[in-house]
Amino acid sequence: MTVAAPETVDVAIVGGGITGLAAAWAAHKRGLRVKLLEARGTVGGKIRSEHRDGYLFEWGPNSFMGSATAIWQLVEDLKLQDEVLTGMPPGDRYIYRNRLARRLPRGPGDFFKNNEFMTLSGKLRMMAEPFVFGDARETDTLLEFARRRLGPEAAQYLVAPFVSGIYAGDAEQLGARDAFPQLWQWEFEAGSVVMGALLGSKKPKPAGPKRRGLFNFKNGLGTLPFAIAAALPPDSVRTATVVNEVTGQADGTWTLHCHATKDETATSEVRARHVVLAAPPQISAQLLPHDPALAQVRAALADVQLCRVAVVHYGGEDKTHVAPQGFGMLIPPGEGLRTLGILFPSSVFAGRAPEGHYLHSGFLGGARDPDAAQLPDEKLFSLVQRAQEQAFPQTAGSALTQDFNQVIRWHDAIPQYRVGHRARMSDARAALQQAMPGVTLAGNYLDGISINDCAASGLAAVDRLLADSHGATGRRST
Ligand SMILES: Cc1cc2nc3c(=O)[nH]c(=O)nc-3n(C[C@H](O)[C@H](O)[C@H](O)COP(=O)(O)OP(=O)(O)OC[C@H]3O[C@@H](n4cnc5c(N)ncnc54)[C@H](O)[C@@H]3O)c2cc1C
Repeated sequence: MTVAAPETVDVAIVGGGITGLAAAWAAHKRGLRVKLLEARGTVGGKIRSEHRDGYLFEWGPNSFMGSATAIWQLVEDLKLQDEVLTGMPPGDRYIYRNRLARRLPRGPGDFFKNNEFMTLSGKLRMMAEPFVFGDARETDTLLEFARRRLGPEAAQYLVAPFVSGIYAGDAEQLGARDAFPQLWQWEFEAGSVVMGALLGSKKPKPAGPKRRGLFNFKNGLGTLPFAIAAALPPDSVRTATVVNEVTGQADGTWTLHCHATKDETATSEVRARHVVLAAPPQISAQLLPHDPALAQVRAALADVQLCRVAVVHYGGEDKTHVAPQGFGMLIPPGEGLRTLGILFPSSVFAGRAPEGHYLHSGFLGGARDPDAAQLPDEKLFSLVQRAQEQAFPQTAGSALTQDFNQVIRWHDAIPQYRVGHRARMSDARAALQQAMPGVTLAGNYLDGISINDCAASGLAAVDRLLADSHGATGRRST
């Protein structure tokens, strides 16, 4: 048995995804000694990019937006500007409907001209949104909200697939206020989403460059986590280390009890005044002491639903230029296909496939069909192939060759912000702060799921800990 000597730092962080790394960076910037502990052999969590056979594919997230202020701050801090890759001008987006891919409007002027994606009556009903009585309800599911505001057709053919695309979620389960707080807030404040957005657009914008579109890095999103880890002082990041428990010491510090991923008997301890729990919610729940004061926190975290997703990458030569161009296609529930959607990464970002080749990524599983993510690789490929060929008949048969494929499965892909989720998480955070002052939660199940939200969550966690350390102390759990 190997027992390493306890190590003392100012801030210890559990989890080396973008949340934990952003927290580590924030603490380091304030001159604090940091130790980040990550169970896997490498940092990045869901963010992981891989080069193979001339293709560059993403295991998890595939882009970030121009408005991603926390990510841009990290890009600036780490001097990664030259690594940033701007997506090609916004290409077409498609919705699958009645056995074909239907192009979405390219802009407001195209809304009435384009008759592919929606009926005239559906469009007129959408246009009536500002005149629908504003009745914001905290208990509205996203589907209820969308039907009420935009009408049944937009709810089914725009909102439900959009929700699959972002949350791999079920619009009948997600809370409108929880999953899309800005939309809900617009109705709450202005009585209408459209009016709220218009009023919001008149408010002064934060200073700084205006960036539009989608972004990545030349070598994939994995550039960012590696750059953060490399910029931290040596020994700040310990990978292949599982944290099992966090316990309190009489002097007000916290001890993280760890073991090596490959050897449970190789244990170690890290002591810190501040701890950021940036692991998935169920894991963070398990790390807390078995104190009755924490029972509600543990139960709330354990109850967060994380959906399974399979990502199916495939690519090949496109000799006859039949591969669809644009961003990708979403598939609404009830259209007879099991695939949630297909993205066209090689059409958005340069360098994703060899010259003259394409790279596409299908998504299956999610909250509505979790079993799909468990299907064998061949079955997943045939489901995505069928979806592509039905939606874009020009790709059927031997029109597109395939020389590359890769399936990635996540059992804990994306947290589902069900009705009441944010209130439950806010209560859990407050109860934890009371029982374990100096320990805080951060991650994609708290303040939004995008990598920008996660980075912001990690940065804010450190601010909160430092602010709290000057405030009152609560009851301590040991
Ligand atoms: C398929 C997919 C596509 C996505 N697409 C996009 C997109 O295009 N754009 C976007 O903005 N977002 C996207 N997202 C969402 C985004 O990627 C995630 O929400 C975000 O990366 C989560 O970061 P995190 O650090 O909170 O969690 P994670 O990345 O899950 O990191 C948590 C870390 O904790 C570690 N850990 C767990 N237990 C322990 C333990 N006991 N001890 C130590 N370490 C532990 C894990 O190994 C992991 O590395 C996508 C997600 C998926 C799955």
